[in-house]
Amino acid sequence: MRDNMGDHDVSGALQEWARVIGPDFAISDRAARAAAETATFQTSQRIPVILRPGTPQEVCEVVRIANRRRFALYPVSSGKNWGYGSSVPVTGGCALLDLSRLNRITAFNERLGYVTVQPGVTQQDLFDYLKLNHSKLWMDATGSSPACSLIGNAMERGFGHTPYGDHFSNVCGLEVILPTGDIVHTGYAGLPGAKAGPVYRWGVGPSLDGLFSQSNLGIVIGMTVWLMPAPEYFQSFFIQCDREDGLAPLVDALRPLRMNGTLRSAVHIGNDYKVLAGIGQFPWGEQMPLSPERMKVLRRQGKFARWSGSGALYGTRAQVAEARRLLRKALAGKADKLQFLDDRVLSLASRFKGAYKAVTRLDLTRTLQLLRPVYGLLKGVPTSDTLGSTYWRKHMAIPDDPDPDRDRCGLLWTAPVAPMEGSAAQALIAMSEQKLLAHGFEPQISLTLLTERSLACVISITYDREVPGEDDRAMAAYVDLQTQLEREGYYSYRLGIAGMQTLNSNPVYSALLRTLKSALDPANVIAPGRYIPTKGSGAARG
Ligand SMILES: Cc1cc2nc3c(=O)[nH]c(=O)nc-3n(C[C@H](O)[C@H](O)[C@H](O)COP(=O)(O)OP(=O)(O)OC[C@H]3O[C@@H](n4cnc5c(N)ncnc54)[C@H](O)[C@@H]3O)c2cc1C
Repeated sequence: MRDNMGDHDVSGALQEWARVIGPDFAISDRAARAAAETATFQTSQRIPVILRPGTPQEVCEVVRIANRRRFALYPVSSGKNWGYGSSVPVTGGCALLDLSRLNRITAFNERLGYVTVQPGVTQQDLFDYLKLNHSKLWMDATGSSPACSLIGNAMERGFGHTPYGDHFSNVCGLEVILPTGDIVHTGYAGLPGAKAGPVYRWGVGPSLDGLFSQSNLGIVIGMTVWLMPAPEYFQSFFIQCDREDGLAPLVDALRPLRMNGTLRSAVHIGNDYKVLAGIGQFPWGEQMPLSPERMKVLRRQGKFARWSGSGALYGTRAQVAEARRLLRKALAGKADKLQFLDDRVLSLASRFKGAYKAVTRLDLTRTLQLLRPVYGLLKGVPTSDTLGSTYWRKHMAIPDDPDPDRDRCGLLWTAPVAPMEGSAAQALIAMSEQKLLAHGFEPQISLTLLTERSLACVISITYDREVPGEDDRAMAAYVDLQTQLEREGYYSYRLGIAGMQTLNSNPVYSALLRTLKSALDPANVIAPGRYIPTKGSGAARG
């Protein structure tokens, strides 16, 4: 990676920034910089300074100084972009602009179901806020840490589990600091006195929201997030299918229900490797990587299937009952097991697990421990339990405060999108499993029926960064897999900092993006190389 701002006067810029945001928040401390330069895979980009402004006005001033000094900034909201680069910039030499101190919820409307947040507002903050206000609204949460920012995730077009799971589809009215230091509001939010800013995405005229997600054209300091009215009744469902060729029929059976609105949530299906990594660490003593034959044995022992799905039904009791009937009918003969779980059953199971054990000798405690986080996510409750999976190949116990960067957990993700067709799902999984096993990694894969007609596949390469040579091997596997997926027409819904050159494969599109970039950010001070490739901007893969 090239340091795009290699030889500037760091101390001069630092002094100027410190005057604006306060010396405590313009950080050049070596340890803090080293932590910020650490991702879940090998990187070489250096961060000369970390800036932590506390107000939108301070951010504007920081940007103006960056422009004058031609010193690039890399904005992050909470910097937990694990598996894609954490807080590490695409190109070295950028000052890290940490927006986590801007952490206010600036508007809340219970009746219309929205909040407006700053970048430092985390999943946990919003969850607590709704609770504190006795709100009848549900947020959507990702499976990442409760300490992740809502804006950071939406800027990457991340997703969660409820009917509002496709995050960028459920936000509007962005407040953006342009590379000049000016502030713009998108949609109606920008028109004086407009009443519908937080409730109508498009405004009037060209719609600009998309320009600021997965891009480097501005710094988002405000965003309205729509929230879901808590349904009268909620019931989650869990699917198991142990047939090797069972995935395609499952997807084809679920698609009509997703398309006709019976299933409004983002249904997730994991392969057996994904489930195993969710319930524990690598079974030491086994050969690496775990072969499909060994997985069969482990599946039998652990009582899980080749394919495990989860989702939920939301509505009135009558609506849920009808959806349950349709789901049962659609999955008859396709799933080996279809189980439903609601609050009543869950609380009964927790209350009577002692008695249950006495009668059946089966201990429900562990099952409940595993179910609760997924069950909660389907209701928009954030959890940190999922972070344990990043310690899959670590020779250490999963700590109480998991931090994959600090603990040198290796994680690289690629996340191709496909049409919601059984054949495409099967092809994606077969290709990815084969490739990763050949490279020596367990292929942990989930498929999410994210929209009515598409599915997103999240494929992880999970390893231990302490093992000599493993960083290189994992990166080689990632490059090989990503290259093959793209060759077959499966492009990722988001890109990691090591894979930004995808957009280069469409010369007309990337030329248009470059034209926009040079018009809005002629000095290239915001996140150089992020999604919009500038010539020679460190977009080399690997
Ligand atoms: C076990 C595990 C489970 C995960 N599950 C999920 C999941 O279910 N869904 C999911 O989507 N992700 C998931 N992730 C990936 C990731 O952790 C989340 O997407 C997380 O929300 C991204 O980090 P962040 O919120 O701290 O965003 P940040 O790191 O702050 O931001 C992400 C990127 O967006 C840009 N950006 C951030 N803020 C701004 C801004 N204000 N203006 C302009 N650009 C900005 C920056 O380039 C930054 O690198 C998971 C990760 C792990 C390890």
